[in-house]
Amino acid sequence: MTKAISILGSTGSIGVQTLDVARMHHIKVIALTANKRIDVLEQQAREFQPLMVAVLDQAAALQLKAALADTDIAVYAGEEGILAAAQHPQADTVVNAIVGAAGLLPTMTAIHAGKNIALANKETLVAGGAIVKAAVRQQGVSLYPVDSEHSAIFQCLQGCPAGALKKVILTASGGSFYGKTKQELRSVTVEQALKHPNWNMGAKITIDSATLMNKGLEVIEASWLFEVPDEKIDVLIHRESIIHSMIQLQDNSVIAQLGVADMRIPIQYALTYPQRMPSPVKELDLSAIATLTFAKPDTDTFECLAICREALRRGGLWPTVANAANEAAVQLFLEGKITFLQIPELVGQAVGHWSDTDNTVTLENILAADRDTRQRILRP
Ligand code: NAD
Ligand code: MG
Repeated sequence: MTKAISILGSTGSIGVQTLDVARMHHIKVIALTANKRIDVLEQQAREFQPLMVAVLDQAAALQLKAALADTDIAVYAGEEGILAAAQHPQADTVVNAIVGAAGLLPTMTAIHAGKNIALANKETLVAGGAIVKAAVRQQGVSLYPVDSEHSAIFQCLQGCPAGALKKVILTASGGSFYGKTKQELRSVTVEQALKHPNWNMGAKITIDSATLMNKGLEVIEASWLFEVPDEKIDVLIHRESIIHSMIQLQDNSVIAQLGVADMRIPIQYALTYPQRMPSPVKELDLSAIATLTFAKPDTDTFECLAICREALRRGGLWPTVANAANEAAVQLFLEGKITFLQIPELVGQAVGHWSDTDNTVTLENILAADRDTRQRILRP
């Protein structure tokens, strides 16, 4: 393939799987970045020979520079380094696999540099959907979803005429604690929350799956990607994670995308669109699976989904605040400083207390709302 990509967050779950796809299809890798795991980044750099790598952590960047001294690979540090990777002139596509709203500025930088975006970093759209979509339109670049549900919907929409879509149906595995009562959730541990039934992902999104915040973020993500309001986005619990999402058309025909739960399918489609190419992912054996089950989500017990829908309906900076509050709360939960049920509590409080009637949705206001919300939770 003649494609040339930069991968932001290459050492994470999505980043590593993106490199699997790049390896298989001989996609040229221009830049790789990480937060601070330089052992993995060094190994990736030696294999894929990018023109540059960047590490957010300054000390780790210096260490990597020394480690790669025998190569021609340029080593950058800090946020500037990540942004340099996002706009590297040799890349045509930027895969954003950073976790959290820290991905917003790199996404905006890449769009302004005229790059197509393969977006795993859903927080980009939750925190800044309005400015991201405006920039995509203005620059005439393409934004391809990597999130499995959104890739499924994007795949189902191929060939659908404008106006044909009636609603989207996001499927949800239900996460680690499906079926539990609030009483039972009071005492769950970090270790239990990190055990996802179907997917092996980064810690933050695994916790988000357990609280159903992930599905709330995905409702907001879908509303920006497919330009549908909250009431046209259904969520359906589907424990097996075989149907990755569906669309319902005006005539009530439903189209679904199915496959083994493996992110390399949506990652590859975002990189090879509209082509379909061989994949390392196994074939789906439906007779072995035999049964697919469905249920309504329990939003009384898992409140984050309802809170995100409320934030979406309010619009403005409310989704930014919900996302920032969740990132801070998940960080505290992973550090053992709060309980599992305090996550929805903190997110609900942040959304309830926020009043942004005077604030327009600009990059500055998004970053300020994000920072203030985080600080209020991390340093109350
Ligand atoms: P992860 O924690 O495994 O990896 C995150 C990557 O981002 C790492 O390379 C890390 O070094 C880097 N990073 C972390 N903080 C950073 C910062 N502040 N600035 C720059 N780089 C930073 O996460 P993941 O599971 O790969 O998820 C990445 C994104 O993809 C998230 O937005 C997640 O919601 C989304 N996503 C993941 C999956 C999955 O299967 N893992 C599925 C769908 C969507
Ligand atoms: Mg998803």
